[in-house]
Amino acid sequence: MEIRYGIAVSPGIAIGPALVLDTEGVRIPYRTVPPEQIPAEINRLRQALREAAAEAEETHKRISARLGQALGNIFGAHASAFADDSFRNEIEKLIRTQNFSAEYAVSRGIREYVKKLEEAGAKLGEHAGVEVRRRAAEMIDLEKQVLVLLLGHRDEPLLAVGSPVIVVANDLMPSDTADFTPRTVSAFATESGGPTSHTAILAGALEIPAVVGVGRFLTDVSGGDIVIVDGERGLVVIDPDDRTVAEYEERRAVLLTRVDRYDALRDKPAVTLDAVAIRLLGNIELAQEAAHCAERGADGVGLYRTEFLYLNKTADPTEAEHYEAYKSVLQTIGPDRPVVIRTLDLGADKFSSVSGLLSNEKNPFLGLRSVRLCLRKLDLFKTQLRALLRAGRYGDARIMFPMISTVEELRQCKTLLNEVREDLEDAGIPFKSDIPVGTMIEVPSAALLADVLAKEADFFSIGTNDLVQYTLAADRNNENVAHLYNPADPAVLRLIRMVVEAGAREGIDVNVCGEMSGEPLYVPLLVGLGLRQLSATPRKIPEIKRVIRQLKVEEAERVAQHALRLETARQVSNYLRDQLRRILPETVD
Ligand code: PEP
Ligand code: MG
Repeated sequence: MEIRYGIAVSPGIAIGPALVLDTEGVRIPYRTVPPEQIPAEINRLRQALREAAAEAEETHKRISARLGQALGNIFGAHASAFADDSFRNEIEKLIRTQNFSAEYAVSRGIREYVKKLEEAGAKLGEHAGVEVRRRAAEMIDLEKQVLVLLLGHRDEPLLAVGSPVIVVANDLMPSDTADFTPRTVSAFATESGGPTSHTAILAGALEIPAVVGVGRFLTDVSGGDIVIVDGERGLVVIDPDDRTVAEYEERRAVLLTRVDRYDALRDKPAVTLDAVAIRLLGNIELAQEAAHCAERGADGVGLYRTEFLYLNKTADPTEAEHYEAYKSVLQTIGPDRPVVIRTLDLGADKFSSVSGLLSNEKNPFLGLRSVRLCLRKLDLFKTQLRALLRAGRYGDARIMFPMISTVEELRQCKTLLNEVREDLEDAGIPFKSDIPVGTMIEVPSAALLADVLAKEADFFSIGTNDLVQYTLAADRNNENVAHLYNPADPAVLRLIRMVVEAGAREGIDVNVCGEMSGEPLYVPLLVGLGLRQLSATPRKIPEIKRVIRQLKVEEAERVAQHALRLETARQVSNYLRDQLRRILPETVD
């Protein structure tokens, strides 16, 4: 039995036979052709590209209908690449000048381009090069699609399997995952990939348990071997022993009954035993996930990460694209529930190759990112703000600025928003003028200055993902410092307390929208610290609601007071675990 650790990108547990998807897979039978065959080779290439474009267009439509426009666009981009004249001309040139067979020319042409992209990606560095490397991976996906057509065979192992399999692969391309359904694929695990890769985002949208970035493990798995994918903890167990299988079967059963039981809570209110209401909101990345919030009984959207409008885009989104996305979320959620739309939080680990981001920053996490970038690229920022104000008419929209670290930044954002309001007014364009404006508290300086910021913001939302990272100086994506990265750290708890108190003094709402609020472990603590709103990934909402409905505020306050007196993250975690075990034993395993 082997246990490998990766990044959990979609929760759930699956046990089953592995299906190894070979990404190299397609073997090219010959490299060159006699000169007289060149016209025929070119025709074959053109025919294959036409078919590939038609297939990609078909997938574009199918996926857009199933999972929404943003994910469908991955394939729209494939279709355009196949139909692109310069792409075709480059490959034809290789056939004409080098006598390459169509297959070999496709492979050679694409691989050379990929190599250039990878070199450029390496020069840009780990963070800034992410998008370029993603493009390189996509080109490999395109290569595979054309080769399969040219070679006249395609392996569709998924269609052949009778019962669900666990797909393991070096990396999965969007064209591989697009047609996964829980009926054919019960989970997947990949050697490469990060939490914001297309594959990770698709896994979340498909609601299939998944672990990515496991590192080399395919050499240890053969098709049919039993594998466990634990999308809760981010691990893969290869060839588990009987005891581990039994343990996981039990955990899986508990999880499934818990999901059923929690789903039954959907329409019940999130109130404590002593009748204090807690507003539970959903975090979303894509507009169509608003429906998941509604399905899971969320009271609205607490965080819409609009930077995901850059997914599958090579240019900045237009005002119309922003507008349509916000309008659709607001309409799905309805007029009586809030939708907090966060302005673009680009840079560092998110869409870092966007135009205007500095590619040579030594430390992009402390660089020109997020609201700092927006305040530098005013056109970009104004385009988004215009769309936000215009779409605001379709519901209870709220605007939130990310990564605010000084009060001047908040003032500049508000001034700009006023300018945009005036422009819209002058132009006679309808918009909503009284949209509440809040700020994320995710930089320690903002938490320390919360009393000042609270006088100028309509609400706060504590972004614990970044607050933990910046407070402890521990990169949230670096496993080498993962032992330091802990929301239970007493330093973090003190900052949260300061923010809640500052909010209460000024009478503004305070929310927590980092992953911390989706963890049952922290619910008693957060409620005890005075939070009356939590925003989490929609799938976590029923579980959080269950804890709230078993809790008394008085008791939660005692938990918070005790936790604040502890000195280490470990002590806090252990204490919270004991408390949760007492309040709701089923959530602690
Ligand atoms: C956070 O930092 O806690 C947060 C919610 O924002 P993101 O995870 O998008 O950085
Ligand atoms: Mg953040």
